[in-house]
Amino acid sequence: MEHVLLIRYGEIHLKGLNRPFFENKLINNIKFAVRGMNASVKREQGRIYVSGIADEDVEEAVKKLTCVFGIHSVSPALCVDVDYNTVKETAFSLLPRDEESTFKVYSRRSDKSFPMTSEMINRELGHDILENFPNLQVDIHNPQIGVYVEIRERAYVYTEIIPGAQGMPTGTAGRAALLISGGIDSPVAGYQMAKRGLVLSAVHFFSYPYTGERARDKVVDLAKIVARYSGPIRLHLVPFTDIQMTIYEKCPSKETTVLMRRLMMKISERIAREDGALALITGEALGQVASQTLESLCVTDDAVSMPVFRPLIGFDKDDIVAIAKKIGTFETSILPYEDCCTVFVPQHPVTKPEVKKLRQSEALVDFEPMIEEAIKNTIIMEVG
Ligand code: ATP
Ligand code: MG
Repeated sequence: MEHVLLIRYGEIHLKGLNRPFFENKLINNIKFAVRGMNASVKREQGRIYVSGIADEDVEEAVKKLTCVFGIHSVSPALCVDVDYNTVKETAFSLLPRDEESTFKVYSRRSDKSFPMTSEMINRELGHDILENFPNLQVDIHNPQIGVYVEIRERAYVYTEIIPGAQGMPTGTAGRAALLISGGIDSPVAGYQMAKRGLVLSAVHFFSYPYTGERARDKVVDLAKIVARYSGPIRLHLVPFTDIQMTIYEKCPSKETTVLMRRLMMKISERIAREDGALALITGEALGQVASQTLESLCVTDDAVSMPVFRPLIGFDKDDIVAIAKKIGTFETSILPYEDCCTVFVPQHPVTKPEVKKLRQSEALVDFEPMIEEAIKNTIIMEVG
């Protein structure tokens, strides 16, 4: 008897001729997720089978696999000889002895040389379970326990179908650069876009000494959590103090936030290009704060020519928080360290900035040497 993780993948089926490309990426990502666990990964008949994992590592492997995008669901199965009695005993080993519960047997036979049809297995095994488990009843409409039996070249028996992370395999959609702050929104935005197959670079602006070491560590930690799903992230830490101070000193006070956002976008775009990324990602949601009104977003977009993806644009804060909790970034995001955006917040920021006006304000200063300096002093680290 051997533990095998049976993996179903969803949307990839739709991809016609590109399908092998998507499947191979998914298999590589699965191999990466369970690296060091002695796993062997193979694809067969629209499923992926992960075998060779030691009993004590199975739970950890399942946890890792449920973070891999492109996986629809995972079932930890027991793989045994194709023999009814063995299948029966294996099913028995998976069922509760004490609790009252209901069950239904679902069997499939793709090896037609096996003498019992799936109908016969369902009936026979259902009957044997009822005889041996007085605590269990059959419920064919809404069973609490599904007993799954698949007869292939081996027999697979399982009772759990654990939902996967869904989405598309990471690496099937190219690379984009996430502007990551220490807040709640941007890690969620990165997660949402990685879910559609993007590999992530990340850019974080810090304003030492106004933002401290711990604020920076927090961003690294957040990137690590996102990387559990997206795979490794190349994180760029950009020193932003000079630019921020200059904006603060030389530009109209109510425009400082929007100007700062334009400069963040400009620098991020250059870093993204260097990194082979074709788009930027932010955690902005329409109307959430003054710098996220439609007019402000237009002014921000005007600073760059790359597409800017804002996957949370139509989300309420509550919805974003729910995802942050689900993916495990929330607790880190709410740690109370200063972000550079919150350090110099104007009291009365413009809510309807005009592109022409903001271009003029930006032209009051020659930012180019400061941009170059910031990029030159950027710290790059591989996270995840
Ligand atoms: P978040 O929760 O992601 O910090 P927010 O609602 O606080 O978002 P802002 O502070 O206005 O909103 O930032 C909007 C977006 O700008 C963020 O989602 C993020 O993509 C980017 N951003 C903000 N601060 C930084 C920073 N210090 N470094 C990199 N990107 C940043
Ligand atoms: Mg923020």
